[in-house]
Amino acid sequence: MAEVVVIGLGLIGGSLARDLRRVGHRVTACGRDAAKLAPAIELGIVDAVADDWAPALAIADVVVLGVPVGSLRELYARIRPHLPATAVVTDVGSTKASVVRDVAAACGGRLPTQFVPGHPIAGTEQSGFAASVEGLFAGRTVVLTPTADTDPAATARVAALWQEVGARVLELTPERHDAALALTSHLPQMLAYTLMEQFADAGDDALAQLIGSGFRGMTRLAGSDPVMWRDVALANRAQLSLALRRYMERLGELAAAVDAGDGKRLEKLFGAAQAAHRRLPPV
Ligand code: NAP
Repeated sequence: MAEVVVIGLGLIGGSLARDLRRVGHRVTACGRDAAKLAPAIELGIVDAVADDWAPALAIADVVVLGVPVGSLRELYARIRPHLPATAVVTDVGSTKASVVRDVAAACGGRLPTQFVPGHPIAGTEQSGFAASVEGLFAGRTVVLTPTADTDPAATARVAALWQEVGARVLELTPERHDAALALTSHLPQMLAYTLMEQFADAGDDALAQLIGSGFRGMTRLAGSDPVMWRDVALANRAQLSLALRRYMERLGELAAAVDAGDGKRLEKLFGAAQAAHRRLPPV
């Protein structure tokens, strides 16, 4: 049994807290407003909520940072003086190079050996601990991005926790993670927001009656928290910008084929995409 402290008991922190309790760990939540977190005890998400972070951190074996990536630097600087030398700290942020940079900056320029950057590839468009669910990570991939500074025993500890809740763990460099996720997560998120904006800008109330499951599926992610995604877009801006530019080139090609009435070209583009989609592994 480990003493786990979750700071940022939202969708991801809350879901992990639920699962870690289920497998026998003791979980304490810390947040900006302890009164707001109190119902999490009744909901069975955590064992305790700490008003004062210092005593909770002083006995922690593992600390999970479940906050938006833009707030990690300040948060790490705040918790650092209270962490026991043996405590392993990990995060769940959607970008990794910025997290490595920010945590190192909070610690005088060097990444702490006990910090293991992580990112579960699982979630929903909901936020807050009330939206947390058990089993969110079962069968899902969690990426850990330890650096040369990271203690391998700390990485093994964090990997074991994720495996206990049913996830499979993959190790990547922070840069490889960010390049891949720009394409598989951050770009689709931007497309959902822009599709939804284009719909709203049409200013036609009747359109809402004319939505099918395709539009709903394509825009589901637009329901996501704007602060979290602002942070992700800024934190991974080089890779996201590249992905957006490549996508705009493809849209340009598509628009040209439509303008030219080039059915052969359209069929070729759609056929290649369909074949690639069929090669995706089953969920
Ligand atoms: P969420 O439900 O909005 O939860 C965020 C939590 O962080 C809330 O408890 C919030 O507390 C707290 N928080 C926000 N700013 C803070 C600050 N400056 N200091 C301390 N606590 C702060 O968000 P989430 O979806 O769980 O996302 C959390 C992290 O997981 C993000 O880094 C995100 O990139 C990553 N992630 C998200 C998903 C997803 O699908 N949503 C998937 C994988 C990874 P308050 O209640 O006080 O605001």
